[in-house]
Amino acid sequence: MNILLFGPPGAGKGTQSAFLVEKHGMVHLSTGDLFRSAIKNSTPLGLEAKKYSEKGQLVPDSITIGLVEEKIKDLKKTSFILDGFPRTVPQAEALETLLKTNQLKLDKAIFLVTPNDMLMSRLTGRRVCEDCGTTYHIETMPPGPGNTCTNCGGNRVIQRKDDFPEVIRTRLEAYEKNTAPLKEYYKAKGKLVEVKGTGEVKEVYERLKSAIS
Ligand code: AMP
Repeated sequence: MNILLFGPPGAGKGTQSAFLVEKHGMVHLSTGDLFRSAIKNSTPLGLEAKKYSEKGQLVPDSITIGLVEEKIKDLKKTSFILDGFPRTVPQAEALETLLKTNQLKLDKAIFLVTPNDMLMSRLTGRRVCEDCGTTYHIETMPPGPGNTCTNCGGNRVIQRKDDFPEVIRTRLEAYEKNTAPLKEYYKAKGKLVEVKGTGEVKEVYERLKSAIS
């Protein structure tokens, strides 16, 4: 089962992907993670992506599609999850071509339905371990004492720059303008499945599990 997980920032795509990877051995392709890693390592791609992602804007399609093109062959081994790509209709069209070229297919496009008022509190409270990527929330799933990571023991649990309120607003606008139209796109292709993204992380995971079984 090959799936796309999409929805607004803060819908829980990354958190749920981590569950699916751990429990179902799926391969996870997250363009957000790839961009963050490139930014951290100051690669040419990272320096370019940083200009956009720091402001909460989408990285241009040509750059993003080029990045996925390089990684798509890694998806051949087992079931995969696309997280955060595609985020625009031109990206979705490019993905179809890339999948076809690599004899791959997307089975379901799962939209995580999350009310707007919940997104802001999820995002402003989010903290991430810079070393291993484990995600926390200051209220619902706090890191260890002194912002330590309970997973890897590191002490670099931070707030992502794009999780500051003014940047979140730009991200939500970019979502409405560019990514929300993907619902219609995948509905027309008979691939859209809507899953409620509210409640406990494990409850959402159970719903997802039923959606992909
Ligand atoms: P995410 O972790 O998925 O929220 O992505 C973080 C940031 O990376 C976004 O705000 C964008 O700046 C950039 N990004 C990630 N995926 C894409 C994409 N498919 N298209 C354009 N920009 C992206």
